[in-house]
Amino acid sequence: MFQQSVLDSYTSNSQKARVLTENWFASQMYCPCCLKPKISVYNNNKKVSDFFCDSCRNDFQLKSSKNRSGVKF
Ligand SMILES: [Zn+2]
Repeated sequence: MFQQSVLDSYTSNSQKARVLTENWFASQMYCPCCLKPKISVYNNNKKVSDFFCDSCRNDFQLKSSKNRSGVKF
């Protein structure tokens, strides 16, 4: 579940959407490559990828454009 206190620290809707997506992805997503049910989140100063699987070493990136959202592998 998302915590409202986390969202309250973000002011814009786009930031909220991104935080929601990242929270969901990190908490609910499994690795599509090796099906490991937990993936890790890069810290924000690494811009190349948003997430990685420490099992199979694959990187994942959330696409956050206005017209399309999804995961780029
Ligand atoms: Zn994996």
